Amino acid sequence: MAGDRREQEPETTAITAGRDASGALSPALWASSTWHTNDLDGTHRGAKAVHESGFYSRYANPTVEAFERTIAELEGAESALAFGSGMGAIASTVFALCSSGDHIVAQRNMYAGTLGFLDGACKRMGIEVTYVDGRNAAEFAAAVRPGKTMLVMAETPTNPHLDVVDLDALGAIKGPFTFVDSTLATPLGQQPLRHGVNIVMHSATKGIAGHNDATLGVIAAEKELVNTIWAYSVLHGATASPFDALNGLRGVRTLGARLRQQSETAQQVAEWLSAHPAVKRVNYPGLTSHPQHELAKRQMRWFGSVFSIELCGGIAEARALTQRLSLVRCAVTLGGPDTLISHSATSTHLSVSPEVKAATGISESLLRVSVGLEAAPDIIADFAQALK
Ligand SMILES: *Cc1c(COP(=O)(O)O)cnc(C)c1O
Repeated sequence: MAGDRREQEPETTAITAGRDASGALSPALWASSTWHTNDLDGTHRGAKAVHESGFYSRYANPTVEAFERTIAELEGAESALAFGSGMGAIASTVFALCSSGDHIVAQRNMYAGTLGFLDGACKRMGIEVTYVDGRNAAEFAAAVRPGKTMLVMAETPTNPHLDVVDLDALGAIKGPFTFVDSTLATPLGQQPLRHGVNIVMHSATKGIAGHNDATLGVIAAEKELVNTIWAYSVLHGATASPFDALNGLRGVRTLGARLRQQSETAQQVAEWLSAHPAVKRVNYPGLTSHPQHELAKRQMRWFGSVFSIELCGGIAEARALTQRLSLVRCAVTLGGPDTLISHSATSTHLSVSPEVKAATGISESLLRVSVGLEAAPDIIADFAQALK
């Protein structure tokens, strides 16, 4: 009896989602940019269709659609839309929903690219942004201006501080669309739409694709909202490459096993570093020392592959540590198989002003670590010799 069936675990859905009637377990790579028809009625039908393959690849592509169906199913959404990058997803969504004179409420500690976009392009287009501290969820609702605020934007956990935003509180906001960048959690770590949030977004470049071989973004939401964003996105043009969508879908199939392992290893390495005298603090939602550990436990199934550390000292100590590490490499992505370390102040947040850096806690001794799939004792041994 269907009614008696228990709900399938997300790890299982990651394996079964997005299959089509062809029987192929991996989708075909449709490189074609266009489809031909017998007469102008055929191309007319294609031009009128909304988010449907068979016309022109900027409008829709079967390989990209297979990836979109998979993400929609994982997020519990009616529909999903892929983009050429996470920033493509953010820029297209904001410009699809906001016009000159509109207002956005955004979390102050968001991804540096998102902040750069809100402070640069949005300001230039006359879209006003009010920043709030996402750790106090009441600030989002308090900053909403009825009739003027179109979008409330949050990121949880945040990159690079691992702050956690209360998804129930965000989902309860009515009026503007609520948007969550869920990149660090991945669709298996948390599902913001189930908390009432309107739009969930991922840089699938990170944990979803998971092998440092795709640049890809995606949003998931109700079909009508996705179609509205799609109508603008075909003009914005941040279209997902079919090859990257294929790698994104391949990544989803192993995401459960990777996320479980990476979360376990991240927990071990974070705990080890917490006890080291050269480390001032470790930010990881899985640590009981994290101020929002209880909230993270309530809304996250896994705490993820990323943590950040604040070293005792400054840039000299950060430089010395990165120079001495040998297994752990310096690079600015996350969620892949290799353990990577990055110095936010001189890389991802280079263009952020000193005032904003100070206000958002991007200090000279802050390092972000993305834990990979190496054995935990090897990662810990590398940190041990480098911190000596
Ligand atoms: C990387 C990242 C982005 C941007 O994604 P790209 O695929 O690099 O464009 C957005 N948000 C978060 C949290 C990220 O880590």
